[in-house]
Amino acid sequence: MIIMVIIMEGKETKKDGGNLVLIIIIAVLFVVTAFCAYKLGVAGRSVVDDTNLQKGGNTSVPNEVEGKTDYLVLVNKQNKLPSTWEETVELEDVKNAYDEDIKVEKEALAQFKKLREALLKEGVNIELDSSYRSVKRQQEIWDEFTEKYGEDYVKKYVAVPGYSEHHTGLAIDVCLKKDGKLIYENDDMMKEKEIWAKVHKKLADYGFILRYPEGKDSITGYAYEPWHFRYVGSAEVAKEITEKGLTFEEYLKQNK
Ligand SMILES: [Zn+2]
Repeated sequence: MIIMVIIMEGKETKKDGGNLVLIIIIAVLFVVTAFCAYKLGVAGRSVVDDTNLQKGGNTSVPNEVEGKTDYLVLVNKQNKLPSTWEETVELEDVKNAYDEDIKVEKEALAQFKKLREALLKEGVNIELDSSYRSVKRQQEIWDEFTEKYGEDYVKKYVAVPGYSEHHTGLAIDVCLKKDGKLIYENDDMMKEKEIWAKVHKKLADYGFILRYPEGKDSITGYAYEPWHFRYVGSAEVAKEITEKGLTFEEYLKQNK
């Protein structure tokens, strides 16, 4: 813009310059505008390209399940995990915050690592708590939590085996690390509102959504869980869901 003003001012003062000068000015402006538009286009595409790179990267790795994972699979209290799911998902082993071996879907894990790094730069430390759970493990959790917290709590927070999004490997529960200490109990984590606000703001950039937002119990079937993120396959989809303030259920209904 500064260049344009300088050129325009030059044009005003050189009244005797004639048509040639005017043509040159127009030509220069055209080239500058075209160049800027090109650069903007490149920058605008980089987010999408990055996502594609993630997917494209997989093609170089020979793997039977590649390309089949349905990143928009819906598993909730009404929708059971598809029976063929295990054949279509590639899980990767990783250690969680407690040094336990857990599994996360490959692409979701790669994106989670990037999300974690980006947050660390802002002084926020999220760590992996849990992700993939077999139906058998979900049953154990159901029993364990019933004993510990009672049936009402379990019905509110724990999924019936077969109906947990954690069976997909695309859901990640995190815990927080603050002043060198892990915060992992649900009640303690609920208190960290400022931290969650920062975390939630970054989710969509890496293809994650906050799966159980506040006040949407009637749609999602779950009370607010600031720690439960769901990978939806791309930043584009995650941003659409987040920016429109939709739940995953509402998004899928609109995009069928
Ligand atoms: Zn969860």
